[in-house]
Amino acid sequence: MTDRISLALVGIGKIARDQHIPSVAAGADFDLKAAVSRHGKVEGIENHEDFDAFLASRPAIRAVSLCTPPEVRFDMARKAIAAGHDVLMEKPPATTLGEAEALAELAAKAGVTLFATWHSRFALGVEPAKTWLAGRAIRSISIVWKEDVRRWHPGQAWIWEPGGFGVFDPGINALSILTAIVPGRILVENARLSFPANRRQPIAAEIAMRTFSGAPIVAEFDWRQEGPQTWDITVQTDQSTLRLSSGGAELFIDGIEKSAGPDREYAGIYERFATLIRARESDVDFQPLRLVADAFLCGERLEVEAFED
Ligand code: NAP
Repeated sequence: MTDRISLALVGIGKIARDQHIPSVAAGADFDLKAAVSRHGKVEGIENHEDFDAFLASRPAIRAVSLCTPPEVRFDMARKAIAAGHDVLMEKPPATTLGEAEALAELAAKAGVTLFATWHSRFALGVEPAKTWLAGRAIRSISIVWKEDVRRWHPGQAWIWEPGGFGVFDPGINALSILTAIVPGRILVENARLSFPANRRQPIAAEIAMRTFSGAPIVAEFDWRQEGPQTWDITVQTDQSTLRLSSGGAELFIDGIEKSAGPDREYAGIYERFATLIRARESDVDFQPLRLVADAFLCGERLEVEAFED
């Protein structure tokens, strides 16, 4: 059996507890040795409160998984790379493209693995959708990503602040699937960003894009959806309709279900991270971040009703 890779988890919040800790425990590749978080603790392993002190005291831990909000990612990733660790970053990889690209360069120079994860790309229907679409003529794409921010991001003040991404925090997941299944560059044409009167990030957004060959793409992101939640991508080709539902977990072609099964997004992420580390490679695709940046660059700002958690 291959040796397990020693790992530290940084930022013990919702996603670390919901996904990273159970996925690492269930997988065969990593050995969770330490947690680094100012308040959060993980039972049964060593806990550190200060990231710099952790880096100085535990150089032998090989890999570091950053589960903090994007605002602090650049600084942490930069320091972890400089200390020689292989680094996994939760999405979004950074607050700006400049930061993200700088990290990729630093990792390449240092010879460490950098993995900018997009968990939705590991949803069950995404790879088969990519395979099915290859070589088919895309006519149009519609993305509807509507969820209840109170349910999925309770008390996360950072998400409403500059660098927190607002509704693009989930919306970037749709863009990560889009850029995985559609070949070639995707270009943003215009955007409408709805900011609540009392918030500094958008609660809703509409983006008009096109594929490189000219097919129109319309994306609607909204955080005010109560009741059933919608995470759908529909691709119209010249002959058929492909639909990815439930955030990419379910794939339908002309209404017939093509893939189903248990969720393996984070299991897939850690398998890929181990493969990258053992091959001494990185995986840094910033296209979804570029689309969000472009939407902010050319987007029209609308003010909407104040929003209270
Ligand atoms: P969260 O619940 O707020 O947890 C993040 C943790 O990071 C906090 O508990 C905090 O722990 C630590 N932290 C370090 N510096 C921080 C700062 N300046 N501000 C706030 N927290 C800081 O957030 P999350 O939902 O786990 O999201 C973390 C990342 O995972 C985000 O990039 C998000 O997009 C991504 N993600 C989230 C979900 C989800 O469903 N929530 C799903 C997929 C991906 P200490 O106070 O103990 O340091």
